[in-house]
Amino acid sequence: MSGLILIVEDERDLVATLEYALEREGFRTRSAYTGRQALEIAVTDPAPDLVLLDLMLPDMSGTQVCQQLRAGERTRAMPVIMMTAKAEEVDRVVGFEVGADDYVVKPFSLRELMLRIRAVLRRKAPAETALAPTPTAGCASTWTATACGSTTARSR
Ligand code: CA
Repeated sequence: MSGLILIVEDERDLVATLEYALEREGFRTRSAYTGRQALEIAVTDPAPDLVLLDLMLPDMSGTQVCQQLRAGERTRAMPVIMMTAKAEEVDRVVGFEVGADDYVVKPFSLRELMLRIRAVLRRKAPAETALAPTPTAGCASTWTATACGSTTARSR
């Protein structure tokens, strides 16, 4: 499985580590060191297949970035994995308003991160191809976007 991963993190050492690890796994990467940069890259072609988003950024919070991605026409269904330093942030990060697809708590192992990235990409891929038309705004704003396409969600 390949794809373009947008890394959003201001700790340059961690960015370098993530770039190396992801590229070794066959992914392409782009990196942003601020929230503003991330939002610009997110709407630049080719669009990222997944955003790896740190919670603590110098100009804005990762949750704000995630909310803006969810509000954007081109980015509302873009998978987001949040990186947080505090386990107690997790509820907020994956919560309804923020809309991240998954999260990892620092320090995380690269192996765990790769598994989560692949799991999120797998969940997203069939939903987009098999279930055209495009997801509704209501679906994209929930963090369990995969459930939108499922029978249970539709019959609700
Ligand atoms: Ca940071």
